[in-house]
Amino acid sequence: MSSDANTPVLRNCIQLPLPEEELLEVTAKAKDYAIMHGAAMRSKTAFSPDSLNFAPFVLVPSSFPRKEFEKAVALQPIINRLMHNVAHDEEFITTTLAETIKVDEFTAGLFNIYRKVLAHGFTQKISLGMLRSDLMLESGCPELSPRALRLEAGEDAEAAEGKEAGTAAAGTGRKEEAERKEHREKQLCQATRERERRATGAQSAYCCWKQVEINTIASGFGHLGPASKTIQRFVLSELGHADKLHNMPDNKALAGLCDGMVRAWEIYAKPKAVILFIIEDVSYNICDQRFHEFYIRETYPHIKVLRRTLTEVHREGKLGLSKELLLGSLEVAVIYFRAGYEPGHYHSQAEWDARYLMETSLAIKCPSIHYHLAGTKKVQQALAQPAVLERFINDPEEIKAVGKIFTGLYSLDDNEAGNASYEMALRTPERFVLKPQREGGGNNVYGVDIPDALKRMSRVERSAWILMDLIHPPLTKGYMVRPGGDMPPQIVDMVSELGIFGVVIGDAEHIMHNYQAGHMLRTKLSTANEGGVAAGMGALDSPYLIDSDDEDENN
Ligand code: ADP
Ligand code: MG
Repeated sequence: MSSDANTPVLRNCIQLPLPEEELLEVTAKAKDYAIMHGAAMRSKTAFSPDSLNFAPFVLVPSSFPRKEFEKAVALQPIINRLMHNVAHDEEFITTTLAETIKVDEFTAGLFNIYRKVLAHGFTQKISLGMLRSDLMLESGCPELSPRALRLEAGEDAEAAEGKEAGTAAAGTGRKEEAERKEHREKQLCQATRERERRATGAQSAYCCWKQVEINTIASGFGHLGPASKTIQRFVLSELGHADKLHNMPDNKALAGLCDGMVRAWEIYAKPKAVILFIIEDVSYNICDQRFHEFYIRETYPHIKVLRRTLTEVHREGKLGLSKELLLGSLEVAVIYFRAGYEPGHYHSQAEWDARYLMETSLAIKCPSIHYHLAGTKKVQQALAQPAVLERFINDPEEIKAVGKIFTGLYSLDDNEAGNASYEMALRTPERFVLKPQREGGGNNVYGVDIPDALKRMSRVERSAWILMDLIHPPLTKGYMVRPGGDMPPQIVDMVSELGIFGVVIGDAEHIMHNYQAGHMLRTKLSTANEGGVAAGMGALDSPYLIDSDDEDENN
């Protein structure tokens, strides 16, 4: 939905369409290959713990500019450090979430645990962060964001935040002023696209990338990311394009993430202690989780992984004399949350109690509660404000590099700036996405649906949400293969979202490990708002790195 008839298209890695017979044969083979290599999920419509469907996938890899990919990879350790520092800044987290927790019960529940832990002191000072920074290419413009355009037009920074709306709307010419503004904002939007095309040449399909969100809890696809590459490598080879495989970057996400858990386990330093995965009542994305478990057992045969729901931890868990977390007779060294990020995972007070019990234990948590809070959309919005990064990053070059990844993010708090963002969203909703403090997909409100959603909220309720500029990724064209889908599949217009994994381990004073740990690419129909694979809208994909728009054109 963030694309239109003018959206540029990235060139394909191979020439499409494929002859029908070849397409049918390779698709059937690729489906089997996917199932047999664990690129699979439990069916939501015909669930059985005894069977798997292949996960939807894109047949050949989607193109992604090499330079932008490498930039994202290089930036990840800086983002890791940023998030680590944010998580340990009590004042920042508390002020940033102050308004939100007045109205958002779920975030308030998490914050309440944080408050209690702060009051008693952290039993375990070390945290394990396994982050995923999600990003999309922007086919609009780097410097010519609506904000920058306003600044360029001579309006001041406050106006760029929309703060002028209150005064403008106050007088008798309120309606005219609003119309004038609306017209100007439309012009600014068009100008953004136009100027970018002119500046970079008509063929350029992108200019930079922007962060969609940063995940600090249950950052999935450590297995499915690399597995997607495996399927597409097979397909390209089957189609006679083995010469192109070198453009598919290495992806060691599974190893990187699991090794992170094991580094934390080593720091805990009790040879008999286990790693605990916190899981949903029913895990559809079972392969992704299990492959983490299997990797650990295969690579480190002496380490045991347990899987428990929050409800089970409440039933079985207790603290020992040194506050170690005990499940029966087993001591837990590391807790990896693959659940606990949405209200539906907390059926009753029992699950909240279990979360608190774990938080107060000696186990190293991924994430610990402050890391979880640092990953909220509200914190992301606060980080994107001018001068805030300086609080967490020292190096001016790094501040500049991180500052560039944010697109416009606006507070909807009940104050002058928030109310101005509200007016701006009502005037030009098609420019925005509205986000609550939720994870896991399906919670956002897009474009023209925003005014109704906002009008249903009280001023105070709005502070549970943030407003964000829509990113307009370029299109790719390809075949999306789904269980029960058309055979042969049709060529469709798609857009991709790249996730870069990062691992960071440390306490408030020291970072002991900090590295980038592979990537994942999810691709959705260009008409879809969201592209969660587990949620059913997206498909597994992996990047095919291209150096310029003209190279390889006649393949
Ligand atoms: P969640 O925590 O639910 O995953 P996200 O912020 O990642 O929330 O949003 C879900 C999806 O919505 C993203 O994966 C992306 O497809 C789409 N989306 C989110 N923000 C934007 C944006 N600013 N521009 C375009 N699409 C977006
Ligand atoms: Mg997301």
